[in-house]
Amino acid sequence: MALPFQKLVIASGNQGKLKEIQALLAPLALEVLPQSAFNVPEAEEPFVTFVENALTKARHASRHTGLPALADDSGICVDALQGAPGVYSARYAGEPKSDARNNEKLLQSLSGVQDRHAHYYCVMVLVRHADDPQPLIAEGIWQGEILTSARGEGGFGYDPLFLDAKTGQTAAELSAEIKNRISHRGHALSRLLHQLERLAL
Ligand code: IMP
Repeated sequence: MALPFQKLVIASGNQGKLKEIQALLAPLALEVLPQSAFNVPEAEEPFVTFVENALTKARHASRHTGLPALADDSGICVDALQGAPGVYSARYAGEPKSDARNNEKLLQSLSGVQDRHAHYYCVMVLVRHADDPQPLIAEGIWQGEILTSARGEGGFGYDPLFLDAKTGQTAAELSAEIKNRISHRGHALSRLLHQLERLAL
């Protein structure tokens, strides 16, 4: 794919996300740099929607680096908890952020609950410059359910508790390649790349 730029900064400090996004972008002729390479401070995420937070993070990284920026805002939404933890997934159990405490809190919140249905949601936003009036926006959803105990060592965040109904494996048991092929993040990024391709024509 011929891209309209050669360098892209990823507006995230989350190592799990960075690894997955870098693997998904690896086939492209693109230098992909984490925002930590430019000492970009963490952006505020004050909004109640994923898309507003993602747009803010992308603009923030682009403003600090002068480069096009890609942001991912994502989380897990549990039906029986009316969509929580949702946009607050990273800090569900409070500060400092901790995957282990978040998972523990999720299990407690669902103790005795029969309906374990949940989905991961991801929105990807790409701005070509900080004031880009036409950000590219794409979303992805991954349906599954929350187990009653953790399984698997891979992935990050809620992955050991998230069962993919189709494979019968948790997101932490799937290989990195398969997770990226079927995940909310994989779908969002592939849709975003299609938009970018059309733009480059
Ligand atoms: P954000 O950095 O504000 O977008 O927070 C994303 C949070 O959602 C992460 O810290 C995880 O808790 C959760 N999350 C998003 N995507 C995934 C995933 O692929 N696996 C596990 N947890 C995820």
